[in-house]
Amino acid sequence: MKITRFIPKVLFGRKHFNDLNRFIGDICPSKKRYAVYIIDSIHQTTGLFERLQPGKNDMVIEFNASSKEPKTSDIDSIRDQIVKQKAAQLPHVVVGIGGGSTMDVAKAVSIMLTNKGSAENYQGWDLVKNKAVTKIAVPTLAGTGAEASRTTVLTGPVKKLGINSDFSIFDGVLMDPDLLETVPAEQEFYTGMDNFIHCVEAMNGSAINAMGKSFAIQAKAAVENFFLKEKNYEELIVSSFFGGSSIANSSVGICHALSYGIAFLLNYRHGIANCIVFNQLEEYYGSDVVTFRKMMDNHGIKLPVNVTADVTAEQFDTMIELAYKLEKDLISALGPDFKNILTPEKIISIYKKM
Ligand code: NAD
Ligand code: ZN
Repeated sequence: MKITRFIPKVLFGRKHFNDLNRFIGDICPSKKRYAVYIIDSIHQTTGLFERLQPGKNDMVIEFNASSKEPKTSDIDSIRDQIVKQKAAQLPHVVVGIGGGSTMDVAKAVSIMLTNKGSAENYQGWDLVKNKAVTKIAVPTLAGTGAEASRTTVLTGPVKKLGINSDFSIFDGVLMDPDLLETVPAEQEFYTGMDNFIHCVEAMNGSAINAMGKSFAIQAKAAVENFFLKEKNYEELIVSSFFGGSSIANSSVGICHALSYGIAFLLNYRHGIANCIVFNQLEEYYGSDVVTFRKMMDNHGIKLPVNVTADVTAEQFDTMIELAYKLEKDLISALGPDFKNILTPEKIISIYKKM
């Protein structure tokens, strides 16, 4: 039996960032301890910092998503900072304002405030024991679907893997399409393609059900419309939410499995790493790869080349090991016999084309 949890409260529409405090009040009516806002440092330059209205006991913590994607050690140190500063009293809410990185930090911090040890102990499936602190997402970049998904992707000392848990699901999402308009064009493309690739992988995998499929069809069409025809930010922000909702009823596939190695060992960001891999997967995702290339041309995107030229045999082994960790996703994409189809030799041959 698989019970799907959806985001219980959504506030959608232009200018609604101004209503953030009222939205928090609606979700946490009787809790008046303090709020923790985790906000991408980029918003020092976009004007969002000035529009935040924290109370005098609230904490505002910056996460610099421009320099890195979140690590388990970042989560542990933010958690420790909150516990120390507030003498172990828990906040009534954690609010994440930013792209997938910052939203994932907010999710993981809310979990680690009520669960012992290091965040790295919870990378995997359903390892979280205690209910997390209430959390709210304000996406400022569209595509990862982190605002709607049940995972929190983190890089730990030995692996890049999500905290997959119902406790990774936000209690509320505030979607204001205006917030997307400051995103640089290349970033908009790479994160937008993360959504496109989630949908393609979901729709081509056996793990999908009719609910996941409906979300994926809608999200994929909106991304194609945005990058091939008309830049509609309202549709783009909704499509990210739908893409994330689809993944709860499907799975990712070959592209994500191979992209984790590129991200972990070669330090490429998630969106671009997926694009580098997806571009080489025509054999598996056929016409969708052709559409992807059209969108790329339309936006003048040039992917890096010779990405794996200096990768050693030992590093390829690690990348293969990381890919095989996404066992459920590869079973969905290729069946239980996936290791005989996507053999280590085949994986290396795909990597060598990049
Ligand atoms: P990001 O959050 O890493 O941000 C990328 C860049 O965009 C940063 O420089 C950031 O400062 C900037 N940015 C964000 N909003 C902006 C705005 N409004 N204006 C100007 N600049 C802005 O990018 P992302 O692609 O959204 O997230 C990637 C992360 O999400 C990875 O760590 C990936 O593993 C994770 N992820 C999570 C899920 C999930 O379901 N939890 C799914 C897919 C990916
Ligand atoms: Zn992704």
